[in-house]
Amino acid sequence: MNMIRSRGRIFFRGKTWWLSYYVHGKEYRRSAKTADREEAQRLLDAIPSDGIADCIHRKRRRQREKTHLVLGQPIGTAAHRLRKMIIFDMCKKLSLDMCYRCHLRIEKIEELSIDHKKPYLNGDDPLRLFWDINNIAFSHSKCNSAAARRPPKLKTTPSSAIMNQDS
Ligand SMILES: [Zn+2]
Repeated sequence: MNMIRSRGRIFFRGKTWWLSYYVHGKEYRRSAKTADREEAQRLLDAIPSDGIADCIHRKRRRQREKTHLVLGQPIGTAAHRLRKMIIFDMCKKLSLDMCYRCHLRIEKIEELSIDHKKPYLNGDDPLRLFWDINNIAFSHSKCNSAAARRPPKLKTTPSSAIMNQDS
């Protein structure tokens, strides 16, 4: 036992251990996602007690504010933008910068849309469609939103997907 140990407990429910701990007097519960008692205890022990948690929160907030100031935008927005830039750069280098819908080149990053070829929400297997990397395509935002507005008669869409083009 050390000083940083949080006030909490673990309990078994269903097939897994659960953590119960307190932050500012409020109880939080979450699954430890393990059937291993020691593992669950380790997870619980890793949760900082209130004083430490406060300190970490303050430090994180200061860091977030500083990042925001430096970047001129929230880190989430900037990171998203950066990821998109990286993808677009790779697309160009690999000659994958062709629109899946109209087959013309995607010239500017502002035009780039990364989306599912087959809408996953209304499909038979939404989860598979969502994660299926072959169901992802690059297109112009405008082509993509035009396609989204059209009734789903897209069965005959050319299957020369950008992703598979050179394979
Ligand atoms: Zn297009």
